[in-house]
Amino acid sequence: MTYDPAGSVPASEALFARANAVIPGGVNSPVRAFAAVGGTPRFIASAQGAYLTDADGNRYVDLICSWGPMLLGHAHPEVQAAVAAAITRGTSYGAPTQPEVELAEEIVGRTPVEKVRFVSSGTEATMSAIRLARGFTGRDLIIKFAGNYHGHVDSLLAAAGSGLATLGVSSTPGVPASSAGQTIVLPYNDRAAVTAAFAAHGDQIAALITEASPGNMGVVPPAPGFNAFLAETCTRHGALFISDEVMTGFRAAREGQWELDGKVEGWKPDLVTFGKVMGGGLPAAAFGGRADVMAMLSPAGPVYQAGTLSGNPIATTAGLTTLRLATDEVYARINRAADLITNGIGDALGKVGVAHAIQRTGTMFSVFFCDGPVTNFDEAKRTNDQAYAAFFHSMMSQGVYLPPSAYEAWFLSSAHDETAVAQVLEALPSAAEAAG
Ligand code: PLP
Repeated sequence: MTYDPAGSVPASEALFARANAVIPGGVNSPVRAFAAVGGTPRFIASAQGAYLTDADGNRYVDLICSWGPMLLGHAHPEVQAAVAAAITRGTSYGAPTQPEVELAEEIVGRTPVEKVRFVSSGTEATMSAIRLARGFTGRDLIIKFAGNYHGHVDSLLAAAGSGLATLGVSSTPGVPASSAGQTIVLPYNDRAAVTAAFAAHGDQIAALITEASPGNMGVVPPAPGFNAFLAETCTRHGALFISDEVMTGFRAAREGQWELDGKVEGWKPDLVTFGKVMGGGLPAAAFGGRADVMAMLSPAGPVYQAGTLSGNPIATTAGLTTLRLATDEVYARINRAADLITNGIGDALGKVGVAHAIQRTGTMFSVFFCDGPVTNFDEAKRTNDQAYAAFFHSMMSQGVYLPPSAYEAWFLSSAHDETAVAQVLEALPSAAEAAG
Protein backbone atom coordinates (compact mmCIF):
# COMPACT_ATOMS: atom_id res chain seq x y z
CA MET A 1 0.00 0.00 0.00
CA THR A 2 1.30 3.47 -0.79
CA TYR A 3 0.43 6.16 1.67
CA ASP A 4 1.52 9.77 1.71
CA PRO A 5 1.83 10.73 5.39
CA ALA A 6 2.29 14.38 4.50
CA GLY A 7 -0.46 14.94 1.97
CA SER A 8 -3.81 13.73 3.21
CA VAL A 9 -4.76 15.70 6.30
CA PRO A 10 -5.15 19.37 5.29
CA ALA A 11 -6.89 20.52 8.45
CA SER A 12 -4.18 19.00 10.69
CA GLU A 13 -1.50 20.45 8.41
CA ALA A 14 -3.01 23.93 8.68
CA LEU A 15 -3.26 23.66 12.48
CA PHE A 16 0.32 22.35 12.70
CA ALA A 17 1.56 25.34 10.68
CA ARG A 18 -0.28 27.73 13.01
CA ALA A 19 0.97 25.82 16.05
CA ASN A 20 4.57 26.00 14.84
CA ALA A 21 4.29 29.78 14.72
CA VAL A 22 3.41 30.04 18.40
CA ILE A 23 4.39 26.77 20.14
CA PRO A 24 7.96 25.36 19.99
CA GLY A 25 7.90 22.43 17.54
CA GLY A 26 4.14 22.92 17.26
CA VAL A 27 3.35 20.65 20.21
CA ASN A 28 3.20 20.78 23.99
CA SER A 29 4.97 17.44 24.55
CA PRO A 30 7.73 16.33 22.15
CA VAL A 31 6.62 12.85 21.08
CA ARG A 32 3.35 14.29 19.71
CA ALA A 33 5.28 15.93 16.85
CA PHE A 34 5.73 12.67 14.85
CA ALA A 35 9.47 13.52 14.64
CA ALA A 36 10.50 9.86 14.66
CA VAL A 37 8.02 8.61 12.06
CA GLY A 38 7.59 11.69 9.86
CA GLY A 39 4.35 13.19 8.58
CA THR A 40 1.85 15.53 10.16
CA PRO A 41 0.64 15.02 13.72
CA ARG A 42 -3.12 14.57 13.81
CA PHE A 43 -4.93 17.36 15.62
CA ILE A 44 -7.71 15.61 17.49
CA ALA A 45 -11.17 17.14 17.43
CA SER A 46 -13.04 14.61 19.56
CA ALA A 47 -12.90 11.14 21.07
CA GLN A 48 -15.47 8.53 22.00
CA GLY A 49 -14.92 5.06 23.42
CA ALA A 50 -12.07 3.39 21.52
CA TYR A 51 -11.98 6.03 18.76
CA LEU A 52 -10.36 9.38 18.01
CA THR A 53 -11.59 11.76 15.30
CA ASP A 54 -9.09 14.23 13.83
CA ALA A 55 -9.65 17.73 12.50
CA ASP A 56 -10.12 16.30 8.97
CA GLY A 57 -12.87 13.97 10.14
CA ASN A 58 -10.72 10.79 9.98
CA ARG A 59 -11.65 8.22 12.62
CA TYR A 60 -9.01 6.03 14.23
CA VAL A 61 -9.02 3.12 16.67
CA ASP A 62 -6.90 4.65 19.44
CA LEU A 63 -4.04 2.44 20.68
CA ILE A 64 -2.45 5.24 22.75
CA CYS A 65 -5.36 6.14 25.05
CA SER A 66 -3.71 9.48 25.95
CA TRP A 67 -0.51 7.54 26.81
CA GLY A 68 -2.33 5.41 29.36
CA PRO A 69 -4.94 7.35 31.33
CA MET A 70 -8.07 6.40 29.36
CA LEU A 71 -8.51 2.94 30.89
CA LEU A 72 -12.29 3.02 30.34
CA GLY A 73 -12.09 4.61 26.89
CA HIS A 74 -12.85 8.20 25.91
CA ALA A 75 -15.86 10.16 27.15
CA HIS A 76 -17.06 7.37 29.43
CA PRO A 77 -20.64 8.38 30.33
CA GLU A 78 -20.31 7.87 34.09
CA VAL A 79 -16.99 9.73 34.29
CA GLN A 80 -18.41 12.52 32.12
CA ALA A 81 -21.49 12.79 34.33
CA ALA A 82 -19.47 12.88 37.56
CA VAL A 83 -17.16 15.58 36.15
CA ALA A 84 -20.09 17.61 34.81
CA ALA A 85 -21.81 17.46 38.21
CA ALA A 86 -18.58 18.42 40.01
CA ILE A 87 -18.07 21.44 37.75
CA THR A 88 -21.43 22.88 38.76
CA ARG A 89 -20.03 23.14 42.31
CA GLY A 90 -17.00 25.21 41.19
CA THR A 91 -13.62 24.13 39.85
CA SER A 92 -10.99 24.86 42.49
CA TYR A 93 -11.09 26.05 46.10
CA GLY A 94 -7.52 25.78 47.38
CA ALA A 95 -8.99 23.97 50.39
CA PRO A 96 -9.51 20.30 51.25
CA THR A 97 -12.48 18.41 49.77
CA GLN A 98 -14.29 15.09 50.16
CA PRO A 99 -13.37 13.67 46.69
CA GLU A 100 -9.65 13.88 47.48
CA VAL A 101 -10.17 11.99 50.75
CA GLU A 102 -12.15 9.31 48.91
CA LEU A 103 -9.55 9.03 46.15
CA ALA A 104 -6.77 8.72 48.75
CA GLU A 105 -8.79 5.98 50.52
CA GLU A 106 -9.28 4.16 47.20
CA ILE A 107 -5.53 4.29 46.41
CA VAL A 108 -4.46 3.23 49.92
CA GLY A 109 -7.06 0.43 49.73
CA ARG A 110 -5.71 -1.13 46.55
CA THR A 111 -1.95 -0.49 46.60
CA PRO A 112 0.90 -1.03 49.09
CA VAL A 113 0.99 2.65 50.16
CA GLU A 114 -0.12 3.68 53.65
CA LYS A 115 -0.42 7.42 52.97
CA VAL A 116 -0.64 9.39 49.77
CA ARG A 117 -0.21 13.05 48.72
CA PHE A 118 -1.72 14.44 45.51
CA VAL A 119 0.04 16.53 42.86
CA SER A 120 -0.87 17.41 39.27
CA SER A 121 1.61 15.47 37.09
CA GLY A 122 3.80 12.38 37.19
CA THR A 123 6.83 14.65 37.00
CA GLU A 124 5.78 16.40 40.20
CA ALA A 125 5.19 13.02 41.85
CA THR A 126 8.68 11.68 41.13
CA MET A 127 10.31 15.02 41.93
CA SER A 128 8.56 15.13 45.29
CA ALA A 129 9.30 11.47 46.07
CA ILE A 130 13.01 12.09 45.43
CA ARG A 131 13.04 15.15 47.67
CA LEU A 132 11.23 13.24 50.40
CA ALA A 133 13.69 10.32 50.13
CA ARG A 134 16.60 12.75 50.45
CA GLY A 135 14.98 14.48 53.39
CA PHE A 136 14.21 11.19 55.12
CA THR A 137 17.64 9.61 54.65
CA GLY A 138 19.78 12.75 54.84
CA ARG A 139 21.61 11.48 51.72
CA ASP A 140 21.87 12.93 48.19
CA LEU A 141 22.62 10.23 45.60
CA ILE A 142 19.90 8.66 43.45
CA ILE A 143 20.07 5.53 41.30
CA LYS A 144 17.99 5.25 38.14
CA PHE A 145 18.06 2.90 35.16
CA ALA A 146 18.88 3.77 31.55
CA GLY A 147 15.74 3.86 29.40
CA ASN A 148 13.48 4.47 32.40
CA TYR A 149 11.58 7.76 32.24
CA HIS A 150 10.31 9.47 35.36
CA GLY A 151 9.15 12.78 33.89
CA HIS A 152 11.30 15.82 33.20
CA VAL A 153 12.82 16.19 36.67
CA ASP A 154 16.37 17.60 36.38
CA SER A 155 18.09 14.79 38.25
CA LEU A 156 16.10 12.07 36.46
CA LEU A 157 16.70 13.09 32.85
CA ALA A 158 19.98 11.22 32.46
CA ALA A 159 19.70 8.40 29.86
CA ALA A 160 15.91 8.57 30.04
CA GLY A 161 13.35 6.84 27.84
CA SER A 162 10.13 8.18 26.27
CA GLY A 163 10.61 11.37 24.21
CA LEU A 164 14.34 11.40 24.92
CA ALA A 165 14.68 7.89 23.51
CA THR A 166 12.56 8.86 20.50
CA LEU A 167 14.72 11.91 19.81
CA GLY A 168 17.98 10.07 20.52
CA VAL A 169 18.83 12.50 23.34
CA SER A 170 20.69 11.05 26.31
CA SER A 171 20.42 14.09 28.53
CA THR A 172 19.39 17.69 28.07
CA PRO A 173 21.02 21.11 28.21
CA GLY A 174 19.65 23.06 31.14
CA VAL A 175 20.31 20.38 33.73
CA PRO A 176 23.18 21.57 35.94
CA ALA A 177 26.12 19.20 36.18
CA SER A 178 25.69 19.42 39.94
CA SER A 179 22.20 17.97 39.60
CA ALA A 180 23.05 15.24 37.05
CA GLY A 181 26.10 14.43 39.18
CA GLN A 182 23.83 13.25 41.97
CA THR A 183 22.34 10.54 39.73
CA ILE A 184 23.91 7.15 39.07
CA VAL A 185 22.55 5.57 35.88
CA LEU A 186 22.70 1.78 35.62
CA PRO A 187 21.70 -0.75 32.93
CA TYR A 188 18.21 -2.15 33.54
CA ASN A 189 17.80 -5.73 34.77
CA ASP A 190 21.49 -5.83 35.76
CA ARG A 191 21.89 -7.10 39.33
CA ALA A 192 25.70 -6.97 39.23
CA ALA A 193 25.64 -3.26 38.34
CA VAL A 194 23.26 -2.54 41.24
CA THR A 195 25.39 -4.51 43.68
CA ALA A 196 28.55 -2.69 42.53
CA ALA A 197 26.92 0.77 42.83
CA PHE A 198 25.76 0.05 46.38
CA ALA A 199 29.16 -1.41 47.27
CA ALA A 200 30.84 1.81 46.11
CA HIS A 201 28.34 4.40 47.40
CA GLY A 202 25.88 2.54 49.67
CA ASP A 203 25.97 4.98 52.58
CA GLN A 204 25.34 7.99 50.30
CA ILE A 205 22.40 6.62 48.30
CA ALA A 206 19.06 8.17 49.27
CA ALA A 207 16.91 6.17 46.87
CA LEU A 208 16.75 3.90 43.88
CA ILE A 209 13.91 4.79 41.52
CA THR A 210 12.69 2.38 38.87
CA GLU A 211 9.66 2.08 36.65
CA ALA A 212 7.73 -0.82 38.22
CA SER A 213 7.80 -2.36 34.76
CA PRO A 214 9.42 -0.02 32.26
CA GLY A 215 7.22 1.17 29.42
CA ASN A 216 9.18 4.19 28.25
CA MET A 217 11.76 2.30 26.16
CA GLY A 218 8.93 0.11 24.92
CA VAL A 219 7.72 -2.48 27.39
CA VAL A 220 10.70 -4.16 29.08
CA PRO A 221 9.42 -6.10 32.09
CA PRO A 222 11.66 -6.74 35.09
CA ALA A 223 13.32 -10.17 35.11
CA PRO A 224 11.61 -12.43 37.67
CA GLY A 225 12.72 -11.37 41.15
CA PHE A 226 14.52 -8.21 39.94
CA ASN A 227 12.24 -5.76 41.78
CA ALA A 228 12.40 -7.93 44.93
CA PHE A 229 16.21 -7.83 44.67
CA LEU A 230 16.13 -4.02 44.33
CA ALA A 231 13.82 -3.65 47.34
CA GLU A 232 16.00 -5.93 49.45
CA THR A 233 19.25 -4.23 48.38
CA CYS A 234 17.85 -0.78 49.20
CA THR A 235 16.67 -1.93 52.62
CA ARG A 236 20.06 -3.48 53.42
CA HIS A 237 21.80 -0.16 52.64
CA GLY A 238 19.28 2.17 54.30
CA ALA A 239 18.15 3.62 50.95
CA LEU A 240 14.51 3.96 49.89
CA PHE A 241 13.06 1.91 47.05
CA ILE A 242 10.82 4.10 44.87
CA SER A 243 8.58 2.21 42.49
CA ASP A 244 7.38 4.52 39.71
CA GLU A 245 3.88 3.34 38.84
CA VAL A 246 2.85 6.51 36.97
CA MET A 247 2.34 4.39 33.86
CA THR A 248 1.62 0.93 35.29
CA GLY A 249 -0.50 2.00 38.29
CA PHE A 250 -4.15 0.86 37.87
CA ARG A 251 -3.18 0.10 34.25
CA ALA A 252 -1.00 -3.03 34.07
CA ALA A 253 -3.43 -4.61 36.54
CA ARG A 254 -6.07 -3.46 39.06
CA GLU A 255 -3.49 -2.86 41.81
CA GLY A 256 -0.77 -1.86 39.36
CA GLN A 257 2.42 -3.73 38.54
CA TRP A 258 2.81 -4.44 42.27
CA GLU A 259 -0.13 -6.88 42.02
CA LEU A 260 1.85 -8.95 39.48
CA ASP A 261 5.12 -8.63 41.34
CA GLY A 262 5.55 -7.56 45.00
CA LYS A 263 2.16 -8.86 46.09
CA VAL A 264 3.06 -12.29 44.74
CA GLU A 265 6.64 -12.25 46.04
CA GLY A 266 5.85 -10.63 49.40
CA TRP A 267 7.69 -7.30 49.37
CA LYS A 268 6.62 -3.64 49.37
CA PRO A 269 8.22 -0.50 47.92
CA ASP A 270 9.00 2.32 50.39
CA LEU A 271 7.50 4.95 48.09
CA VAL A 272 5.32 4.70 44.98
CA THR A 273 4.49 7.34 42.37
CA PHE A 274 1.17 7.36 40.50
CA GLY A 275 -0.38 9.38 37.65
CA LYS A 276 -2.23 8.79 34.38
CA VAL A 277 -5.20 6.41 35.16
CA MET A 278 -5.70 7.82 38.65
CA GLY A 279 -6.66 11.18 37.09
CA GLY A 280 -9.23 9.65 34.74
CA GLY A 281 -7.98 11.90 31.91
CA LEU A 282 -7.55 15.06 34.00
CA PRO A 283 -4.33 16.30 35.61
CA ALA A 284 -3.88 14.34 38.82
CA ALA A 285 -0.94 12.36 40.15
CA ALA A 286 0.31 11.25 43.55
CA PHE A 287 3.13 9.86 45.57
CA GLY A 288 2.73 7.71 48.66
CA GLY A 289 4.27 5.01 50.75
CA ARG A 290 5.36 4.10 54.26
CA ALA A 291 3.58 6.14 56.92
CA ASP A 292 6.86 6.96 58.73
CA VAL A 293 8.42 8.32 55.52
CA MET A 294 5.29 10.27 54.50
CA ALA A 295 5.19 11.78 58.01
CA MET A 296 8.27 13.80 57.02
CA LEU A 297 6.16 15.86 54.59
CA SER A 298 5.00 19.33 55.52
CA PRO A 299 2.87 20.27 57.39
CA ALA A 300 3.40 17.08 59.45
CA GLY A 301 7.18 17.19 58.97
CA PRO A 302 9.99 19.39 57.64
CA VAL A 303 10.17 18.35 53.94
CA TYR A 304 8.31 21.03 51.99
CA GLN A 305 5.93 20.16 49.18
CA ALA A 306 2.80 21.98 47.97
CA GLY A 307 0.56 22.78 44.99
CA THR A 308 -2.17 25.33 44.14
CA LEU A 309 -4.17 22.77 42.15
CA SER A 310 -3.08 19.64 44.08
CA GLY A 311 -6.10 17.41 44.80
CA ASN A 312 -8.23 19.53 42.47
CA PRO A 313 -11.90 18.54 42.95
CA ILE A 314 -12.64 17.97 39.26
CA ALA A 315 -9.52 15.88 38.66
CA THR A 316 -10.00 13.83 41.81
CA THR A 317 -13.66 13.25 40.90
CA ALA A 318 -12.63 11.97 37.44
CA GLY A 319 -9.97 9.75 39.01
CA LEU A 320 -12.21 8.42 41.76
CA THR A 321 -15.03 7.59 39.33
CA THR A 322 -12.57 5.87 36.99
CA LEU A 323 -10.99 3.77 39.74
CA ARG A 324 -14.37 2.75 41.15
CA LEU A 325 -15.41 1.56 37.68
CA ALA A 326 -12.07 -0.22 37.13
CA THR A 327 -13.16 -3.66 38.31
CA ASP A 328 -11.50 -7.00 37.66
CA GLU A 329 -13.88 -7.44 34.71
CA VAL A 330 -12.49 -4.25 33.10
CA TYR A 331 -8.93 -5.60 33.26
CA ALA A 332 -10.09 -9.03 32.01
CA ARG A 333 -11.74 -7.36 29.02
CA ILE A 334 -8.64 -5.30 28.21
CA ASN A 335 -6.43 -8.37 28.58
CA ARG A 336 -8.62 -10.30 26.11
CA ALA A 337 -8.31 -7.48 23.56
CA ALA A 338 -4.53 -7.35 24.18
CA ASP A 339 -4.31 -11.14 23.62
CA LEU A 340 -6.08 -10.85 20.26
CA ILE A 341 -4.05 -7.86 19.07
CA THR A 342 -0.64 -9.17 20.18
CA ASN A 343 -1.38 -12.56 18.59
CA GLY A 344 -2.45 -10.79 15.40
CA ILE A 345 0.72 -8.71 15.31
CA GLY A 346 2.88 -11.80 15.85
CA ASP A 347 1.09 -13.69 13.04
CA ALA A 348 1.25 -10.79 10.58
CA LEU A 349 4.93 -9.97 11.16
CA GLY A 350 5.82 -13.68 11.30
CA LYS A 351 4.20 -14.33 7.91
CA VAL A 352 6.34 -11.73 6.16
CA GLY A 353 9.50 -12.65 8.09
CA VAL A 354 9.97 -9.31 9.90
CA ALA A 355 12.10 -9.68 13.07
CA HIS A 356 10.03 -8.66 16.07
CA ALA A 357 9.59 -9.06 19.81
CA ILE A 358 6.21 -8.43 21.43
CA GLN A 359 6.68 -7.70 25.13
CA ARG A 360 3.94 -7.30 27.65
CA THR A 361 3.14 -6.69 31.29
CA GLY A 362 -0.52 -7.11 32.25
CA THR A 363 -2.64 -5.09 29.82
CA MET A 364 0.36 -3.10 28.47
CA PHE A 365 2.50 -4.20 25.54
CA SER A 366 4.78 -2.96 22.78
CA VAL A 367 6.38 -4.28 19.63
CA PHE A 368 10.12 -4.13 18.99
CA PHE A 369 11.15 -4.51 15.37
CA CYS A 370 14.19 -6.65 16.22
CA ASP A 371 14.80 -10.12 17.64
CA GLY A 372 14.02 -10.44 21.34
CA PRO A 373 13.93 -10.68 24.17
CA VAL A 374 14.70 -7.03 24.89
CA THR A 375 15.90 -6.71 28.50
CA ASN A 376 17.48 -3.24 28.64
CA PHE A 377 17.84 0.09 26.83
CA ASP A 378 20.82 -0.95 24.66
CA GLU A 379 18.84 -3.91 23.38
CA ALA A 380 15.73 -1.72 22.85
CA LYS A 381 17.80 0.57 20.62
CA ARG A 382 18.28 -2.35 18.19
CA THR A 383 14.66 -1.86 17.07
CA ASN A 384 14.41 -1.00 13.36
CA ASP A 385 13.01 2.55 13.40
CA GLN A 386 12.39 2.63 9.63
CA ALA A 387 10.41 -0.61 9.74
CA TYR A 388 8.38 0.82 12.62
CA ALA A 389 7.71 4.07 10.73
CA ALA A 390 6.46 2.14 7.68
CA PHE A 391 4.26 -0.04 9.89
CA PHE A 392 2.96 3.02 11.75
CA HIS A 393 1.96 4.92 8.59
CA SER A 394 0.26 1.90 7.07
CA MET A 395 -1.77 1.40 10.27
CA MET A 396 -2.65 5.12 10.38
CA SER A 397 -3.81 5.03 6.76
CA GLN A 398 -6.12 2.17 7.74
CA GLY A 399 -7.56 4.05 10.70
CA VAL A 400 -5.44 2.72 13.56
CA TYR A 401 -3.66 5.32 15.70
CA LEU A 402 -0.36 4.01 17.11
CA PRO A 403 2.36 5.63 19.22
CA PRO A 404 4.47 7.74 16.81
CA SER A 405 7.64 6.17 18.19
CA ALA A 406 9.05 2.66 18.47
CA TYR A 407 9.98 3.33 22.11
CA GLU A 408 6.52 3.64 23.61
CA ALA A 409 3.96 1.29 25.11
CA TRP A 410 0.63 0.63 23.39
CA PHE A 411 -2.52 1.07 25.47
CA LEU A 412 -6.03 -0.33 25.16
CA SER A 413 -9.23 0.39 27.07
CA SER A 414 -12.32 -1.50 28.13
CA ALA A 415 -14.06 0.25 25.21
CA HIS A 416 -11.92 -1.71 22.71
CA ASP A 417 -14.69 -4.11 21.75
CA GLU A 418 -14.84 -6.76 19.01
CA THR A 419 -15.44 -4.18 16.28
CA ALA A 420 -12.45 -2.04 17.27
CA VAL A 421 -10.19 -5.08 17.67
CA ALA A 422 -11.34 -6.46 14.30
CA GLN A 423 -10.37 -3.18 12.60
CA VAL A 424 -6.87 -3.45 14.11
CA LEU A 425 -6.54 -7.10 13.05
CA GLU A 426 -7.63 -6.34 9.49
CA ALA A 427 -5.03 -3.59 9.16
CA LEU A 428 -2.11 -5.74 10.32
CA PRO A 429 -1.24 -7.83 7.22
CA SER A 430 -0.61 -4.87 4.91
CA ALA A 431 1.17 -2.93 7.69
CA ALA A 432 3.45 -5.94 8.21
CA GLU A 433 4.15 -6.02 4.49
CA ALA A 434 4.99 -2.31 4.54
CA ALA A 435 7.46 -2.99 7.37
CA GLY A 436 9.10 -5.90 5.51
N1 PLP B 1 6.91 8.30 35.32
C1 PLP B 1 6.55 7.46 34.32
C2 PLP B 1 6.82 5.99 34.48
C3 PLP B 1 5.94 7.95 33.17
O1 PLP B 1 5.59 7.10 32.20
C4 PLP B 1 5.71 9.34 33.05
C5 PLP B 1 5.09 9.89 31.85
O2 PLP B 1 4.94 9.27 30.84
C6 PLP B 1 6.08 10.17 34.12
C7 PLP B 1 6.68 9.62 35.23
C8 PLP B 1 5.83 11.64 34.05
O3 PLP B 1 4.48 11.89 34.10
P1 PLP B 1 3.90 13.28 33.53
O4 PLP B 1 4.03 13.21 32.03
O5 PLP B 1 2.47 13.30 34.00
O6 PLP B 1 4.71 14.38 34.12
